[in-house]
Amino acid sequence: MAMDENRFTQLRERMVSAQLLSRDIRDPAVIEAMRTIPRHMFVGADNADMAYTDGPLPIGQGQTISQPYIVALMTQLLELKGNEKVLEIGTGSGYQAAILAHVVKEVHSIERHEHLARQASTTLNALGLENVEVHVGDGTLGLPELAPFDAVIVTAAAPKVPQSLLDQLDDGGRLVIPVGGRWGQYLECWQRDGDKFSSEGVVPVAFVPLVGEEGWGE
Ligand code: SAM
Repeated sequence: MAMDENRFTQLRERMVSAQLLSRDIRDPAVIEAMRTIPRHMFVGADNADMAYTDGPLPIGQGQTISQPYIVALMTQLLELKGNEKVLEIGTGSGYQAAILAHVVKEVHSIERHEHLARQASTTLNALGLENVEVHVGDGTLGLPELAPFDAVIVTAAAPKVPQSLLDQLDDGGRLVIPVGGRWGQYLECWQRDGDKFSSEGVVPVAFVPLVGEEGWGE
């Protein structure tokens, strides 16, 4: 077991240098989180050997855990300082939520598949991450009862940015979301300044669909 953990630590270190530092990941808090959180615990025993490779992996229910670089890039784009309350839509395995929980004070993550939500909660609890709460429901509607959020991250592809999520973003807050068609999107980074919202496209990406009232149909 101890030998396995050493091997995973080495693989994680290699992931950070070969996939993140060699590209454009520079935020020290994001790098530290990616160096610390054991990704192999979020992919199931069958895929543990693949956990630190440069791509997405299946997590069941037709869903995926995103490529490590995309997780790091989306987190970096939020420009977090450490004391934020963050909303994630699309808990999936819980890995992105764990990275966020390592960086900020409070994380709320919504997953529409109850089974995935339960599994993610179990993994997050096993890691002792007590500042993240997983909610089951339609994340396109956000969590109005807990708004506003300092940052919002959507890890499934939307036809357009859900208005509910923009409404729940605090003044000065940032929102990152893949927007486009079913098979290809652009990662967009939004910022709120009072009643004004600005956005920029960052990179082309391919995410599974965001399914819900302000997303795609079933
Ligand atoms: N962040 C995840 C991780 O770290 O493993 C990966 C997310 S996976 C690419 C997208 C997830 O979004 C899937 O688990 C899917 O079930 C979920 N999803 C899609 N539409 C949703 C919605 N309206 N509300 C909540 N979750 C949704």
